[in-house]
Amino acid sequence: MTDAGYHMSAEEFRLQGKRLIDWIADYHEKRVVDLPVLSRAEPGLIQNELPERAPERGEPFEAMMQDVDEILLPGITHWQSPNFYAYFPANVSYPSILGELLSAGLGVQGMLWSTSPACTELETRVLDWIAELLGLPEGFRSSGDGGGVIQDSASSAALTALLAARERATGYQSNERGLADHPGLVAYASTQTHSSVEKDARVIGIGRSNLRAIDVDESFAMRPDLLEQQILEDLAAGSTPFFACATVGTTSSNAMDPLREIGRICRKHGIWLHVDAAMSGTAAICPEFRFIHDGVELADSYAFNPHKWMFTNFDCDCFFVADRAALIRTLSILPEYLRNRATEAGAVIDYRDWHVPLGRRFRALKLWFVLRHYGAEGLRYHIRRHVAWAQAFASWIAADECFELAAPAPLNLVCFRLRASDARNEELLERINQGGKMMLSHTKLDGRYTLRFCVGQTHTEERHVQEAWRIILDEAKAVFSFE
Ligand code: PLP
Repeated sequence: MTDAGYHMSAEEFRLQGKRLIDWIADYHEKRVVDLPVLSRAEPGLIQNELPERAPERGEPFEAMMQDVDEILLPGITHWQSPNFYAYFPANVSYPSILGELLSAGLGVQGMLWSTSPACTELETRVLDWIAELLGLPEGFRSSGDGGGVIQDSASSAALTALLAARERATGYQSNERGLADHPGLVAYASTQTHSSVEKDARVIGIGRSNLRAIDVDESFAMRPDLLEQQILEDLAAGSTPFFACATVGTTSSNAMDPLREIGRICRKHGIWLHVDAAMSGTAAICPEFRFIHDGVELADSYAFNPHKWMFTNFDCDCFFVADRAALIRTLSILPEYLRNRATEAGAVIDYRDWHVPLGRRFRALKLWFVLRHYGAEGLRYHIRRHVAWAQAFASWIAADECFELAAPAPLNLVCFRLRASDARNEELLERINQGGKMMLSHTKLDGRYTLRFCVGQTHTEERHVQEAWRIILDEAKAVFSFE
């Protein structure tokens, strides 16, 4: 070999790499459970510990890892703690971490099929597997007119769907001439839809006020009758309804929008239906939970995040479309420097045409490793346990006269509150999270402060959920004792 200059030697990489794997395994196996789940860092604490300038001289790897332990760890909120019940999970697993590492090691940039055929073809195959495992319609598979792609996030997936819907609705003219000729494009979501859809509506240029927020029923699911009423009003006013987003498992309360009825209305009016199943889609791998997808065959696109509940590292969103031609026509541009024989022969998929960024990592590797490691059977086993423990937790809430359920709990999220004021509930959350032994998050339902308990972390066991309930009861007593 020639002079390696300042590069890390392969020998050093082997040594530090093995140590780093040990560090990660120790973190998961031993350390994380004892660390305060919510970081106690005040704003600026971590930054103030870091030098103001980049080092002029390279430093040993040991020094970096020492800083990881001493400076960064206090600023980490431990999403991988078994006692993490906040937000929706971002659970990971060892096979997924190894897939990430291998992806980094190969360092592939898979923008085109020709820039690494395996990167594209593995992704196509794995997404077809997933479509089958979740019981998604045949039309979403690459063997038909549709297909799936990995995107970074559910936000980007909805953005892509909105773009393709906008183009379809304008006869592919808005890409050419902007929206001036199509001022009346109107999209629909429920009042409970994730805020990313509103952000996406801003990005695609229709204007936030042209995203209609449809009211929900007592289970916080979109009311199809109000959707149709709004569509008819918009049509009567000369607008062009073009897109609707239905959610399978809303962020606040895990509400399930009625896909079949919404789909029927969208079909009737030629509206692109996107289904956002960000966390809950994973549950459909178990046949008994597949009711959440009833009517999904009426959708034009569907997205869920293995990076939430399927033991796969962020980022990994699976986005499926029924008509890939509409998507590709919306996003494809072929500059000279990307021309190649395979693309021009039309024989291959170039995933750069399926989302906004050009470049793409080899994200299918981690998903492939997860699917092969667990098998469908292993994934079902863990999802079923999470749901069962959340259901047990919901039954404890329902049976305790100090608490009430704030919404139905169809799967692994339980929304609850003390039968007390918002201020008391806020105080309860604060006490629980500051205690460091577990972490919850909150939302507002019907204008009232609500606590959210979501079971989905890789390392959570039944005993952790029981312990969480004991902590909640203790802290609730403390809240009431101050009255
Ligand atoms: N949709 C729903 C229902 C969500 O719960 C979330 C995040 O929690 C998102 C979309 C946004 O997810 P992402 O971070 O992948 O954009």
